[in-house]
Amino acid sequence: MTAAHSVERFAGRWAASLKGAVAPAMTRAELDVFLRGLTEQLTEAMRAEPFRPELGRAVGKALIDAHYRDASVLNRTLAMLGDEFVTELGDVIGDGADVMNRVAKLHGAVAEGFAIALRNTVLAEQETTQRAALAAARAAEERRRASEARFQAVFAGAAVGIGVVDLTGTVLEVNDAMAGMLGRMPDEIKGRTIAEVIGPENIGQAYAEFGKLVGGEIDRFRLETTHLRPDGRVTSIDLSMTAVRNRSGTPDFFIGVAVDVTERRRLQNRLWHESRHDSLTGLPNRTLFFERLEAAEQPIGLCYLDLDGFKNINDSLGHDAGDYVLRVVANRLRKSIEPDGCTVARMAGDEFVVLIERCGSPDRVAREAEKMLAVFGRPIEFDGERLSVTGSIGVVHSALVGADPGRLMRAADVTLYQAKANGSGRWARYDPARGERELTRHSLATAMPAALAHDEFLLHYQPLVALADSSVRGFEALVRWDHPRLGRVSPGQFIPVAEETGNINALGQWVLEQGCLQARRWFDEFGIDDLYVSVNVAATQLRQPTFVADVLGTLDQVGLPATCLQLELTESAVAGDTQGALLALRELAAAGVRLAIDDFGTGYSNLAHLGRLPVHQLKIDRSLLASSRRGEVVDPAHDKIVAATISLAHSLGLDVLAEGVETTPQADRLRLLQCDGAQGMLFGGPVPVGEAAEILARQTNRANSA
Ligand code: C2E
Ligand code: MG
Ligand code: MG
Repeated sequence: MTAAHSVERFAGRWAASLKGAVAPAMTRAELDVFLRGLTEQLTEAMRAEPFRPELGRAVGKALIDAHYRDASVLNRTLAMLGDEFVTELGDVIGDGADVMNRVAKLHGAVAEGFAIALRNTVLAEQETTQRAALAAARAAEERRRASEARFQAVFAGAAVGIGVVDLTGTVLEVNDAMAGMLGRMPDEIKGRTIAEVIGPENIGQAYAEFGKLVGGEIDRFRLETTHLRPDGRVTSIDLSMTAVRNRSGTPDFFIGVAVDVTERRRLQNRLWHESRHDSLTGLPNRTLFFERLEAAEQPIGLCYLDLDGFKNINDSLGHDAGDYVLRVVANRLRKSIEPDGCTVARMAGDEFVVLIERCGSPDRVAREAEKMLAVFGRPIEFDGERLSVTGSIGVVHSALVGADPGRLMRAADVTLYQAKANGSGRWARYDPARGERELTRHSLATAMPAALAHDEFLLHYQPLVALADSSVRGFEALVRWDHPRLGRVSPGQFIPVAEETGNINALGQWVLEQGCLQARRWFDEFGIDDLYVSVNVAATQLRQPTFVADVLGTLDQVGLPATCLQLELTESAVAGDTQGALLALRELAAAGVRLAIDDFGTGYSNLAHLGRLPVHQLKIDRSLLASSRRGEVVDPAHDKIVAATISLAHSLGLDVLAEGVETTPQADRLRLLQCDGAQGMLFGGPVPVGEAAEILARQTNRANSA
């Protein structure tokens, strides 16, 4: 048996004996190789002369280094180094007399090496752990110090105020900025309650929020407070309080952060003031006035003042004079009006208004109006001139008009104009009978432009018939207004308003376009080429320089022959020396447009004049057809006028159509008088476009079947 073989076998047995010991991370094969190396070292130690104990110690250390640290490993190893070692490796280590002696020494050396190595390892490990722990501890301390320093830096150097408050609401800590905002030193605030820090104005709300914060209902709250500092200055502070909770969720303390918003508040107040006051007079402007009016306590009185002839002052003396007068009037008004519950505002230009809240009776407003007029008692001196300025006032009271601010203002406006109509320097009280009518006019006038944009207007069509056979020859387009609040409004109500306000031009153009479009559709559908649509034209429209171009342009755009359009004008619109109107009519007639005189018999009834105009048709007003007071179907006096009118018109080459024909006897009489056409309930009232089309369809069918 070779020596190497013996070493291998011994190492194998040794490895087996270590089985079960706390195993290091070594496979069995690796362990065999490892122990073979150690066995060789042991045999070398045995052979050395003299004995080399360090080789034995090295084996003990090697075991420790291989992580065999358990005491049982040493015991089992020492057990292997007994008889078995000697017999098995006898060839290698020899079997001299001192073999057993050397084995004993070897035991000692291995054990010593093992023990020393074990101690060293444990010590080393302890040291590293300790060092690591120390390093960790140091790092933690470092971090804590850093964050505390950071907090201190933020706290002390912050531009915002910071304060720490305990659960009872006592201030524990405040920084310089916070103290500065409150006008005190930090030490003067520490130990006080937040009630002393937050101004009395907001303390109720603050305590309620603070209670919720303590109770955990909320995590933070914010409020703006004003604080009166010991030096008398008032600061506005935007304060937000946050709860700082511990791990169990209950708050330990609260941190308040405060920002000084005094400047911002001041700026806001200034902007608010500027946006609600008139820069010239310093009085509240219309914005503020309407805010006060909306919020005013009932009953309400209003005095609406307008200077008389203010435009003259501006025009003759210049705007400086005008501005000066307005300022003086404003000042005098301000002084004359009781400040309690009254607002004097400048509404626009030379218009001022006084709002009186809790105004017991209409008489109270009247007294206020008298006081206002009294400010004009003294002349106003400007640049050496003594200007006598007066004003007119409309007086309204909510008891008579209702509480709605819009209605009150319209009533005041209407009443002001009534006051002006009575002569300058007077006040007038709202007159319900007159006011109601005026108010409607007023609201119609203001609503009209939007109504056009919102398509609230529509056309109805009334048949115009030939008296000879009652056939429909045309339709008169009659405008209607479906007002969202007032319902269907008749043209008799809104046309005069539209004429006054100038809205008639836009409305008239709309009617013209719609009428022409409709005529074009009927033209296409029924192929009646001599059917015409008759459109009413107001006097103001005719005087528009673009009128002719508008009419011809519309015909062109719609593609309607000019002969299918008739324009109805009142006699007054074409009367007098309106050269422009005459030229316009000539141009239109030359283009082929039919012209009719509407409501004949209500105006001048000057046939000689009309005969010189390029007119095709005379429409006799229905008032001339009305039955007499004695109950006769035809009033004898009117009948003579109608008869004369028809024959005169015919002699001038004009067609005659009678309006408002309601009965068969009327129609019969008119036929007898050779009247050409008629319009009225007997032949059909104004109807929506669909019904007009049905009338046309029936007529076309009759004609075709005949
Ligand atoms: P008008 O041009 O004389 O129109 C005839 C008016 O008499 C219509 O009133 C019509 O409904 C009414 N009428 C028709 N047949 C009879 C009848 O048998 N008996 C009675 N009692 N009345 C009858 P409406 O539609 O209320 O129009 C009133 C006036 O408003 C029109 O009088 C016209 O002057 C004006 N108007 C209507 N539409 C327009 C328009 O588009 N532009 C302009 N500028 N004025 C218009
Ligand atoms: Mg008409
Ligand atoms: Mg008429």
